[in-house]
Amino acid sequence: MKIFKEMEKYEHEQLVFVHDKHTGLKGIICIHDTTLGPGLGGTRIWNYESEEEAIKDVLRLARGMTYKNAAAGLNLGGGKAVIIGDASKIKSEALFRSFGRYVESLNGRYITAEDVGTSTGDMDFIKMETDHVVGLEGKSGDPSPITSLGGFYGIKAALQFSFKDETISKYSYAVQGVGKTGMHMIDYLFAEGAKKVYFTDINKEKIDAIKEKHPEAILVKPDEIYTLDVDVFVPCALGGGLNDKTIPKLKCPIVAGVANNVLEDENKHSQMLKDRNILYAPDFVINAGGVINVYHELGGYVEEDAKADVKKIYDRLLEIFKISKEQNIHTQAAANVFAENRIKLIHNIRGNYLGKWEKILP
Ligand code: NAD
Repeated sequence: MKIFKEMEKYEHEQLVFVHDKHTGLKGIICIHDTTLGPGLGGTRIWNYESEEEAIKDVLRLARGMTYKNAAAGLNLGGGKAVIIGDASKIKSEALFRSFGRYVESLNGRYITAEDVGTSTGDMDFIKMETDHVVGLEGKSGDPSPITSLGGFYGIKAALQFSFKDETISKYSYAVQGVGKTGMHMIDYLFAEGAKKVYFTDINKEKIDAIKEKHPEAILVKPDEIYTLDVDVFVPCALGGGLNDKTIPKLKCPIVAGVANNVLEDENKHSQMLKDRNILYAPDFVINAGGVINVYHELGGYVEEDAKADVKKIYDRLLEIFKISKEQNIHTQAAANVFAENRIKLIHNIRGNYLGKWEKILP
């Protein structure tokens, strides 16, 4: 693998390999773009089959965070870290503190948070060594309710754009996955009188919890969820649900939910949805509630401020749908245009010298 070639391809700024002989830590921190601010993104623990796979993943995930943070209107660039190993075996206070010291050594260019394989408790260990960490116990808390709230505003934006009427009670919904986010999504839908809510999951406990809380919700089998005659398909399960096989089955005019990587192939399947006249709310825009929430920890967390910021997902999606329509491009591409425009504009205004740099003369 030619590492600099990989970095040049999408203009990654920095790739840092960290190792600690005492704890066995093997990690990679990647900073993609810091035009808007420090690169923020979680630390993932994953048992990669090869180092090459880990490098590719961290490059891809860090770049994804640049777009997500930019489109969320945050003063943050994109970054991500991976720790190689089995999360059930390698985690310890010393490992996270050792990792935290490497994060500290980057002097604020990278801010970490929890991700797959890490928890808020692990972030507390990192915090013992660096302030460049968010998503701590007792701060912004579990991101799921606020992520779902952002998704709910996203559904309203999609209804408004499609039907010029965002009254939740006039429509029907199919929620795929009722875990941490799907469960809250169903609460929000019923709180505004959703006409009909279908749901599915593969976990009996999660299904039973919804049946008990919302007896009016209609349970369907996992394969059936794609085929329902509803207004909005709401993906809240794990990624890759929409692909060559499932998209032709959809009868809904809108796909809007918080699951990451809903489309098996971003470009191909976003285009496929567009060709079928199905409005797709791009995942990294509609599910930004969690990152917006932790961002607010950087300035002293106030829940109401974070919620007000999450509400802006509505306007951003309307803008993205407009770009998609005007430029006749699929919405995933329009979301990329939206994020890139913001990065470009902020980069340009920073060309204006402020007179406060110390190092002008040699
Ligand atoms: P979760 O694990 O709590 O819930 C996912 C649910 O989906 C589980 O109940 C699981 O049984 C179910 N599921 C898995 N495969 C399924 C299938 N094939 N059919 C039906 N149900 C299935 O996870 P979550 O936190 O609710 O996250 C859901 C999605 O949202 C993920 O893609 C996640 O990356 C994304 N997301 C979550 C947050 C957050 O704050 N939790 C933030 C941004 C994005």
